[in-house]
Amino acid sequence: MSSTESQSESSVIRNFIDGAWVDSSAADLLPVVNPATGDGLGMTPLSPASEVNAAVEAAARAFPAWRSTPAVDRARVLFRLKALLDQHHEELARTLTQEHGKVFAETMGEVRRGIENVEHACGIPTLMMGETLEDIAPGIDCETIRQPLGVFGVITPYNFPVMIPLWFWPYAVATGNTVVLKPSEQDPVTHQKVVELAAEAGLPPGVLNVVHGAHEAVTTLVEHPEVKGISFVGSSATARFLYGKAAKEGKRVQALGGAKNFLVVLPDADLDRANEAIVDSVFGSTGQRCLAGSVLVGVREAYEPMKERLLDRASSLRMGYGLEEGVDMGPVVSRPHRDSVVDFINQGTQEGPDLLLDGRGATVAEYPDGHWIGPTVFEGVAPDMVLGKEEIFGPVAGLTKAGSVEEAVDLMHRVHYGNSTGIFTSSGRAAREFRYKAGISMIGVNIGVAAPMAFFPFGGARSSFYGDLKAQGRDAIDFYTDKRVVISRW
Ligand code: NAD
Repeated sequence: MSSTESQSESSVIRNFIDGAWVDSSAADLLPVVNPATGDGLGMTPLSPASEVNAAVEAAARAFPAWRSTPAVDRARVLFRLKALLDQHHEELARTLTQEHGKVFAETMGEVRRGIENVEHACGIPTLMMGETLEDIAPGIDCETIRQPLGVFGVITPYNFPVMIPLWFWPYAVATGNTVVLKPSEQDPVTHQKVVELAAEAGLPPGVLNVVHGAHEAVTTLVEHPEVKGISFVGSSATARFLYGKAAKEGKRVQALGGAKNFLVVLPDADLDRANEAIVDSVFGSTGQRCLAGSVLVGVREAYEPMKERLLDRASSLRMGYGLEEGVDMGPVVSRPHRDSVVDFINQGTQEGPDLLLDGRGATVAEYPDGHWIGPTVFEGVAPDMVLGKEEIFGPVAGLTKAGSVEEAVDLMHRVHYGNSTGIFTSSGRAAREFRYKAGISMIGVNIGVAAPMAFFPFGGARSSFYGDLKAQGRDAIDFYTDKRVVISRW
């Protein structure tokens, strides 16, 4: 293993262990490709277990000094990181568009959401305070102290490769823990820059480590006895598998999974504004969001105008390379992912619903190697169909009708996911009824993408989430600390 001070001059993505950029010895490498142009951006090593172990050991060594660093000093590192991220905001968004494919306005938004988590974690001296009560019995006082636990593993997906790691590691290190991050192997390039900035901000060696890889790296991390807890985001199948595995190892675990989100439109909604929000929800990030609207339920006479507006706007969206002006929608991340979305559409055509808009043949003349798939709309989708219940993770909408809010809620309860939903209405009463009965964790009222900000919890219900404490917000502080209770008599 050779080490260097920077990631930048190697085409093989480097691991970051104990404050140094380290070449992986991995024999298996996966290409990282610009999904619009087909240009190669680097190679991700599928690091072996020995490299994960080295990262965990570095994190374990760094823990005692870092946990005893005063919270204000830990916060100052994060303040400096926040300033550096602001300075590099556009540069990060640009490389993010290159490796992920979403358009520049979307990557600017993603980086902003990531920075907001660093900002929130800067409040750690207050957020981490405990509680005290004098005289719980005569002359006896009681206090709770929040203490960090040690090394945490963070495993993240491809669809928000800058923001999602920042849902976790800034809180983990702010609370005095140390971290090994295993980013998505599909688009790990931009987060390397974030890690360089964290080192520049003064994060000591070993506090944040990064190991690239896939299954072997993840299972080694989850099984390592020094790792006290796991934060995971990805598909539900992987979330469930890792939740069970980490729990069996006696670790804390929060595992955020996939989604199938229903958006419900009532006749009294402002239909034009609802449509803008719905189009952004369904087709933004080319449908690769866990908060993406997927099944659109028009209640009674809302249905036809909802459908017309959606088709009108969806068919005018301009696809292309997300760094160019005027582009509304980029490609999906990879050729296999494009093929999987096409397979869903093919299956959908055999299940009975009508295909009103077909994105399968989409091309962009200047970029023949891009992974293009255009906006696609089906009508007559039911929750027992593949199109109505499976996560497609592409720009595909299924339309359906309901006679009432109750019926709409019943439809979404027939699907096992529970990440997000939304209602469009001008009736406070209908919105309240919906919120009361939805049984889903992130709810929009006249909002297409109900994304909680950094100071609120982010995570779903049912098979969209395994665990209890969610990402961000106060949950993050609870997840990364143990509340220790001291009872004193003097
Ligand atoms: P994924 O499950 O394929 O991969 C996520 C991470 O798990 C990656 O780091 C990957 O290397 C690792 N991994 C994958 N399979 C594994 C296995 N068998 N064993 C061990 N590790 C494994 O997910 P993805 O395709 O990168 O991301 C898309 C998914 O993430 C979608 O389902 C989406 O809904 C979900 N997601 C959920 C949220 C949320 O907040 N609930 C947010 C973003 C994305």
